[in-house]
Amino acid sequence: EWDSKPSIDLPSQKESSGVRFYNGTRGNDIILSLVRNEELQGMLQSIEEFENRFNKRFHYDWWFLNDKPFSEEFINGTKSKVSGSVKYITLPKQYFDYPDNIDLERAAQVRKTMKKQKVAYGDSESYRFMCRFNSGMFYKLPELEHVEYYWRVEPFVNFKCDINYDVFEYMRQNDKLYGFAMSLGEDKRTIPTLWEHTRKYFFDLHPELIADRNNINFISDDEGATYNGCHFWTNFEIAHTEIFKDPGYGYEAYFEYLDSIGGFFYERWGDAPVHTLAFSLLLDVDQIHFVPNTGYFHHPNQDCPRDDPLKEALNCECQPKKDFTWHKWSCVNKFFDVNHLQRPDSLSQVKK
Ligand code: GDP
Ligand code: MN
Repeated sequence: EWDSKPSIDLPSQKESSGVRFYNGTRGNDIILSLVRNEELQGMLQSIEEFENRFNKRFHYDWWFLNDKPFSEEFINGTKSKVSGSVKYITLPKQYFDYPDNIDLERAAQVRKTMKKQKVAYGDSESYRFMCRFNSGMFYKLPELEHVEYYWRVEPFVNFKCDINYDVFEYMRQNDKLYGFAMSLGEDKRTIPTLWEHTRKYFFDLHPELIADRNNINFISDDEGATYNGCHFWTNFEIAHTEIFKDPGYGYEAYFEYLDSIGGFFYERWGDAPVHTLAFSLLLDVDQIHFVPNTGYFHHPNQDCPRDDPLKEALNCECQPKKDFTWHKWSCVNKFFDVNHLQRPDSLSQVKK
């Protein structure tokens, strides 16, 4: 059904601003990019492909976030390329900064050590602010109060296949709260104590938060003793803001606990393992959605349908032999195996 769907020609909504409310199944869903002024070219590349493969049919609003004010060049370059309306938000200082409890000397010492060990971004302060922001801050922005689903899109990514259906609508109608496209193993040197603290928080302090049909076997190969490193690669992420904000899920309290430990700065905790550990425990497996066959690329990993009829049907412009999604090092395999799910990797599987 999906590949024969005519493209929907919605009126341009460029004139509107802020959050709009829709009738029917359409909600307050947005495309969200944290990006620097210097990444304008990369942002334009991502916008062009995302519009061409998806958003030209649906016209979702695109919101840009930055810890510094956006330059006129950035705003003028991007605004006319988006088929929905645009919004540019400068983050208040505390969203991209140290919390009060951090010992700056100790943090600096860690950066030095990690630099020697050649850990990626090990010596970067701003990378840590970014990871903390994406872990526990973005959903607190007053501008996002009424946002429901967001789709995170970074500069310099590609979408090499048509996405012919409204993914937000699909998730809403199927009670999906967290969507991912790629998954791989984390560099354990960035998270020496993340699992120990996570386990303590959920298993010892708040077992009542853990979902009955959780995804523990995706993140652990030994029933929770150790974390296997598998994480949803959050540079592609579609999620409902409610799972971060609603005390019923308990995510915000978990973030505050992690923040009090200081591991965003005394280690280099990424938002990917933080989101993954939390939602693998807090959500039912059914609420997590693998978004297949987008031809997504973020350096160095490419998604590319290996099934020829599927690749054709979606007009994919990528090389199946470069596909990482179903590669043996990808954790997507594990997600499907441990949950006994059908893999949506052929036309016959996808077309229902
Ligand atoms: P990687 O994907 O882990 O290699 O990290 P990136 O450098 O791609 O950063 C992740 C996202 O955060 C990208 O969308 C970047 O544009 C954005 N980002 C990273 N650091 C900063 C920063 O200091 N300021 C702003 N405004 N955006 C940042
Ligand atoms: Mn990136």
